[in-house]
Amino acid sequence: MSSGPLFVHCCHCSWCQRETGTAFALNALIEADRVILDHGEVEVIDTPSNSGKGQKIARCPRCHVAVWSNYTGAGDVIRFIRVGTLDDPGQFSPDVHIFTESKLPWVALPQDVPVVPTYYRVSELWPAESLERRAALAAKSRK
Ligand SMILES: [Zn+2]
Repeated sequence: MSSGPLFVHCCHCSWCQRETGTAFALNALIEADRVILDHGEVEVIDTPSNSGKGQKIARCPRCHVAVWSNYTGAGDVIRFIRVGTLDDPGQFSPDVHIFTESKLPWVALPQDVPVVPTYYRVSELWPAESLERRAALAAKSRK
């Protein structure tokens, strides 16, 4: 990633639980053109998603670990990077916990991070800088 992410989602939906085989998925949202694949290629697999609109999961062709997703909602311009696949996954902590209505009962959520039962309004939670970057993406895609 050539800059910090726009926002970091900790998703507790049952789809993420199934796909990861664990309690949640941790995704750093970032512009696709800020993702540098320094070696190798990814294999993109069409996969169903919670919304019903589907997602494309980019996987390592050898071990099939998911490295990022593109969701139909956000389109190809924003990648959801699996934070656990980064060299230093500890540098990005969740900015929001989403779909906590299906959170596993033993997961304790922090008091100082927004927690929402399903999804949230980007305009209400993203910092101003991220909203500006998002607006720049939208302007680019209209050209
Ligand atoms: Zn999810």
